[in-house]
Amino acid sequence: MKLLKLVGHLLIIILLTVLTQIGGLIWIIALVLSYRLQWKIRYSFPTIYLLFNLGLIPLVAPYFGRVQLPIFNTMLKPQNYFYTLTFRNYVTPELKRSLNDAAKDLASLGIQIKYLDANFPFTDGFPLLPHLSHNDGKKVDIAFQYKATDGKPTNKKPSLLGYGHYTHLRNPTNNYCKSKGFWQYDITKYLNLKTREHLVFDKKQTKTLIQGLLHNTSNAKLFIEPHLKKELGLQNYAQIRFHGCQAVRHDDHIHLEIK
Ligand SMILES: [Zn+2]
Repeated sequence: MKLLKLVGHLLIIILLTVLTQIGGLIWIIALVLSYRLQWKIRYSFPTIYLLFNLGLIPLVAPYFGRVQLPIFNTMLKPQNYFYTLTFRNYVTPELKRSLNDAAKDLASLGIQIKYLDANFPFTDGFPLLPHLSHNDGKKVDIAFQYKATDGKPTNKKPSLLGYGHYTHLRNPTNNYCKSKGFWQYDITKYLNLKTREHLVFDKKQTKTLIQGLLHNTSNAKLFIEPHLKKELGLQNYAQIRFHGCQAVRHDDHIHLEIK
């Protein structure tokens, strides 16, 4: 029975570490407190977790070269509080500055930057799964822009987390990559928790968003699907590249990174 309990705790620690980087450590602290102070873990864990998430880690991370992206800023905010509650919204100060500058520019055009997965607060090389490269504070994913059925632009998104709602059912790159054996290329379709399916991809506002991001970010690289780059009329931008088949589809979100 004791062994079973230990295995259970180990699994929770691994899962929390993979998902949030810090959560596994918080579970250990809560466990110690529950033994020492008889404080039930179902109370100690959420309390310590929130203290770390909202207070301690945002204060400590800058000493390790990462800062938290805004949570309640109207111009630059998370698509879902999942990203902030799981410590997945940390970037380098330079990338945060670029995003803030772009957000100020774009706000006057009615565009809100809504970020998705960024990076964890600590150490280079710690992967933020399922992303391959979000491990150094220099990467951030950003949601596309959409319009309502009456054609008016909106800052709302069709999928809850911002991933998996593809602009095209037929995607030549997807077919190519899958034929080459990259089975994971459209794995984000499972993340498509549909909340506002009626929203339509807004090419004009998404193009403006991409231009705003690139204008304010030096040494930027930006990934979207090649056919989308053409369709949006962004062929002149050398910073917009194809990410390769080992990644996932980028006709549901923008990936922005700095060198
Ligand atoms: Zn990305």
